[in-house]
Order: sequence, then structure tokens, then C-alpha cells
Amino acid sequence: MAAVYVDLGSIGPKWPTACRRAVAHLNELFSQNAIGVSLALIGQGAPRITVRTDPSIKGTLHGHTQTKTTSGQLLSAVVSLPVKASINTPDGMREAGPGVLEIIVAHEFVHALGQVKHSASQLMCSPMTPVPGDSPAGDLLQANGVNLPPIALAPDTVQLLQSLWP
Ligand SMILES: [Zn+2]
Repeated sequence: MAAVYVDLGSIGPKWPTACRRAVAHLNELFSQNAIGVSLALIGQGAPRITVRTDPSIKGTLHGHTQTKTTSGQLLSAVVSLPVKASINTPDGMREAGPGVLEIIVAHEFVHALGQVKHSASQLMCSPMTPVPGDSPAGDLLQANGVNLPPIALAPDTVQLLQSLWP
């Protein structure tokens, strides 16, 4: 079982909880699907995913990920998240709820683990449609008809990650 370490730098108060939830739920799915990698929030090993916020990402519920690899093996990745993740509601724009933040982070973590192209549905679909809840806790992202959270991996994502992380 390979470990990939996740570094939460100074990313403000909003994202660390989303990152921890994404790590926990992705690790469950990796284990259930015989994907041989686990994300670790504690430890100094390599490879590492560095998480940061990027003020230049605006008006989107999507981050950016850059990876460095050698012969297909992950060396390091930088996940950039928007400072503001706003969702349009009947009462106006407000900050998106924790479920939406978790999906944004989990999507970028799977990019970091090696999925470059988007999937037709589920977690690696893009773009997703924001669906505001009555309160932030009910906010969702819809991926080709599938409501997220909970995180769900499409078969192509599972197969790719199984091959990259045997
Ligand atoms: Zn993406």
C-alpha cells in the first residue's frame, strides 16, 4: 500500500475540514475498490500533495492541480483551491456548504493521483452543476445527474487508479 502525503499549508479556516473529510472518504473508497494508495495527513514522506489557495481562481467551484511525475510515478503535486467558493441561491450568492467543498477537494486529489481527463459522470465529471440547498449543509454538486456528496467514483476512475496504484 503506497501512501501519498497531503500537506495543508496556510489555507485559511474553511478548507482543512473539507480536506480531512475528502481524505477519509477517498481512503474508504480506495480500500473498497482494491486501489493500493492511501492519503495521509500526518507524516513527512513522499510523494506529497501540497494544498494551497489561489486568489486567481474566481467564480468557479473547481480547483487546479499540477503534478510532477517520472515514468508515470507521482513525485509531487500542488492542488490550488479557490479562496471563495460561492453558490448562487434564490436568496443570492453565498459561500458553498461543506459537502460542496469536500467534492471540490476530492476531485483535485484524484487529479493529483493521476487522472488527467475528466469522466462522464461521478466525482471526476466536469463541469458539475451547483444545486443550492435550503441551507449550506444541503448544497450539492450534480455530476451528469448524480448528486455529490457522497463521493462516488466512476468505473473509469476506479480502473485507472487500480492500474496506477496496484
Ligand atoms: Zn477537474
